[in-house]
Amino acid sequence: MTAMATLPETPYYRATGGEVALFETCFERRLPLLLKGPTGCGKSRFVEHMAAALNRPLITVACHDDTTATDLLGRYLIRGDETVWCDGPVARAVREGAILYLDEIAEARPDVVVVVHPLTDHRRELFLERHDEVLRAGPEFMVVASYNPFYQRGLKELKPSTRQRFVCLSFQYPAPAVEREILMGETGIDAATAKKLVALAGKLRQAEMLGIAEVPSTRLLVDAAYLLSAGLPPRLACRTAIVEALTDDHETIKAMCDIVALCF
Ligand code: ADP
Repeated sequence: MTAMATLPETPYYRATGGEVALFETCFERRLPLLLKGPTGCGKSRFVEHMAAALNRPLITVACHDDTTATDLLGRYLIRGDETVWCDGPVARAVREGAILYLDEIAEARPDVVVVVHPLTDHRRELFLERHDEVLRAGPEFMVVASYNPFYQRGLKELKPSTRQRFVCLSFQYPAPAVEREILMGETGIDAATAKKLVALAGKLRQAEMLGIAEVPSTRLLVDAAYLLSAGLPPRLACRTAIVEALTDDHETIKAMCDIVALCF
């Protein structure tokens, strides 16, 4: 599990709908927010942007199979000859009035996720059983979670009892004109190159016959754009940043490189 607290400058985020107003309303009304969508479509960037815009610290927990309730809540540690309580990221977020971002919440086991349930309803409390303490969240504390509904469908579904605690907002890969703007805003590449990259993504996203588990994300396009802006040959940039990131299968790599060659 990784957790970090940040209070950065407002990171670049290109809004794609009414998501900023929705986030602000959830923050004001103390409603938890669940962001659904494929990997690399801007969910985390959106949360980073909103935390900075609302001037709240952001505490991110990357959830996975081995995340335990103790990891989230805290534990006693031995320091010299003393035993001291050490808050986990969720407890710290409540104390600091931070935005708590549970990234890939469906990766955590359901029995672990239930420890945050009391923070997501009218109680807005956290029980630190081991520390014999109940934390009450202040008005500025907010829970945001993300979840990829297309990833390992069936294996890592979010329990309805968890999902129904959140206001849910769906993210998709942006429309071509917006994605071009994101690539230019994020990496500084020119409009013509951004257009080619987004056209390539469009072709690869439609190429279902390639049998790849996931289509290219905006994140992969951003990576390719950085390589291109550093002066790498375009086909090499696209192969290494996009194609090889999506598959290990030689035939599929070849088929995708043929599509790259149509665009660059
Ligand atoms: P997710 O959390 O959905 O997996 P990220 O938020 O990490 O994805 O997005 C991956 C990258 O794509 C970001 O680092 C950023 O470069 C870019 N990106 C995607 N959408 C946007 C957007 N709307 N505005 C700015 N950058 C974006």
